[in-house]
Amino acid sequence: MDIDCPLLDELDAWFSCALDLLPPHSAVRRDVLLLVGGGATVEEVVSVTAGDCEAFLDHLIVFPPDSDGRSLPLTPAFVEVTELEPGAWPLSRDDAAAAAAVVEEAVAAIDREVFLATGLSRPGGVERVRALRMHAWLHELGAHVGVLEANYGPDLPRLLAAAGTCPAVRRDRDVENLVPAQRTTRVAAVA
Ligand SMILES: [Zn+2]
Repeated sequence: MDIDCPLLDELDAWFSCALDLLPPHSAVRRDVLLLVGGGATVEEVVSVTAGDCEAFLDHLIVFPPDSDGRSLPLTPAFVEVTELEPGAWPLSRDDAAAAAAVVEEAVAAIDREVFLATGLSRPGGVERVRALRMHAWLHELGAHVGVLEANYGPDLPRLLAAAGTCPAVRRDRDVENLVPAQRTTRVAAVA
């Protein structure tokens, strides 16, 4: 990625550690990838079945049950790299608590690997992964990030506030807007 952003670097590191660590075609791989790709909660990812997933224009849209029609969008690039497809999800779910525990353990293991690989010292866990995904959305969507309300609902402002900023997304620090405009090219200052 040619944008200099420590948060995107962290997300890339986390994502590549996840791809290295998670067994191919496993349930935990699919669930953790939905978490990092869709900015989902653990409760959401462990409730999704094949019938909740829809391929649309190279995206994969996942509609977690009980979320009022809100959805988790996986981008075409993410879908291509991860090779996720609706058939990766089960037809039904039985033990959500057990699946959630497996996802939490996997996130902790990936966090440890990221610490070892990068020396990054930061809070880990699911909320950090969601924050990094939201930061990536800020890069991707910029001023249009509000469209994600269809995906994340009323939680969106809180999620974006937790996403962190970097020079590339810090639009409110545009100094040109802060320089007072002069009425003429040369104004004599009084005292
Ligand atoms: Zn950034």
